[in-house]
Amino acid sequence: MFYISESMIRLLFFWGGLFFFLLLEVLISYRVSSVSKVKRWINNISLTLFNSILINLIFSAAIVSTATYVEKNQLGILNLVQAPLWIEILFTVAFMDFMLYIWHLLNHVVPFLWRFHRVHHTDLNMDVSTATRFHIGELAISAVIKISLIFFLGANLPGVLIFECGVVFCAQFHHSSLKVPKWFESIFWILFVPPSMHRIHHSVIIRERDSNYGTIFSLWDRISGTLITRVDQAKIRIGVGAYPNPDRLNLQHLLIMPFTRPVR
Ligand SMILES: [Zn+2]
Repeated sequence: MFYISESMIRLLFFWGGLFFFLLLEVLISYRVSSVSKVKRWINNISLTLFNSILINLIFSAAIVSTATYVEKNQLGILNLVQAPLWIEILFTVAFMDFMLYIWHLLNHVVPFLWRFHRVHHTDLNMDVSTATRFHIGELAISAVIKISLIFFLGANLPGVLIFECGVVFCAQFHHSSLKVPKWFESIFWILFVPPSMHRIHHSVIIRERDSNYGTIFSLWDRISGTLITRVDQAKIRIGVGAYPNPDRLNLQHLLIMPFTRPVR
């Protein structure tokens, strides 16, 4: 029963966020698009729908069942100690976000994983629709890892749910082509990942792309030395150097991309 409400909350968060940021982007856009927004949206949203139908439903059920199972049977690290619920939730969100940081870094340095992750990076402009432009292969591997981590941690359902919604919201925000006031960015940046930090991560320059891996917190990049900040934002060219042509980046190209020639 809780599974239904959990996926409803996630779904509401996802579509709510998508329309919220789309509206804001149109009203206060960071920069003008260099390729057709409509065309990119058709690709990104069809990829998202394809993924949701095939994978999200199965895996969100598995994630909720795992969290319920470990809670019921008192498994995992968190069930070894008696801590207040809010500490458990905070720890779950921080731990899962740190694991996501490592997973993201591995997607860039392991050639096999980069084959899949490059699909996300080939978007030639960034906006809220980029946040869910992922190859189904990457999502499948990451879902298996996520379920194992929930099991290992003994994460409870509220913690997992807050983490999942946090990831959706933060990813939509930092991918959005939203003009954010400088003062807000400089405060937000201390703890979290603002659009300017993630824009550097989507640069065609490999040194810049292999930095700023964080999703919710900017802390992991700070302590691991992978944070880059001094980049002229106006000069960032978004995408992967080997894929400059938007006509070669349609849905069918994105789906077979991991199985084509390797590129840096
Ligand atoms: Zn990346």
